[in-house]
Amino acid sequence: MVPVAETIAATRAAVAAARSAGRVVALVPTMGALHAGHAELVRVARRLAGPLGCVVASVFVNPTQFGPGEDFDRYPRALEADRRLCGEAGADLVFHPSVAEMYPGRPVAYVDVSELGDHLCGPSRPGHFRGVCTVVLKLLNIVQPDLSVFGAKDAQQVRILRRMVADLDVPGRVEVAPTVREADGLAMSSRNAYLKSDERAAAPGIYAALLATRDRYARGERDAARLEAALRADLAAIPGARVDYASVVDDETMQPVARLDRPALVAVAVSLGRTRLIDNVTLS
Ligand code: AMP
Repeated sequence: MVPVAETIAATRAAVAAARSAGRVVALVPTMGALHAGHAELVRVARRLAGPLGCVVASVFVNPTQFGPGEDFDRYPRALEADRRLCGEAGADLVFHPSVAEMYPGRPVAYVDVSELGDHLCGPSRPGHFRGVCTVVLKLLNIVQPDLSVFGAKDAQQVRILRRMVADLDVPGRVEVAPTVREADGLAMSSRNAYLKSDERAAAPGIYAALLATRDRYARGERDAARLEAALRADLAAIPGARVDYASVVDDETMQPVARLDRPALVAVAVSLGRTRLIDNVTLS
């Protein structure tokens, strides 16, 4: 079984030993309740760090990225299963701190990445990206990895984190692994476990709508408003779906675009019952 470190000190000691043995260190931050998407991140980290590398997966449900009324309390927690999955995917260490270990007092220092959070998930989840950036910077400071791996499923998150790392000169590379999907196209997510059976049956419609958008783009449509309107109509046809946003934005700045004359991201957030799901495709 992969060892689990519950303290920052134990994690730092394990990483220091690996580093002094000349091993490349890789970090995969997660909130646990791991699935095949997370396993892919660990495998990518293992491949990039090399067979002798040291791959650390963190499992921490970070309270500061959840808003009031969000699912922090009911977010699934499954450490033993996570530990197995991390081991099978090639991790060397699981860092599983308590909230008190990560936030021993009320923190007053935060990382805010402006502008990139103005659209998509930013407005509907105030404070979310600040919480994400702050905890990821803490994890990067604790592990000080040569590289860290994030998933393309959380497209806005990964662009914000890349920008944080670039603007603040945080050492280490940020790598992105592709979205892993169920056979019917639904992006894997720890939150899929919340879906009731009718919601689960409807959920693949989200990716189908994104693929239809990609088709319209491939057929030559370059008007963002028309693409968005057709996407919204497709999403509205999913039984029980409530669309939070369905937007075409510049792939780098995350700002709205009018014409698709440069790479763009099509991102959606859709609620089915009490479960909010996000997904995206890129157009270029
Ligand atoms: P989470 O545990 O949901 O906070 O996600 C931890 C990391 O796993 C993030 O970098 C996510 O983007 C990534 N991730 C989550 N779901 C998937 C997926 N279906 N495919 C690839 N990466 C994912």
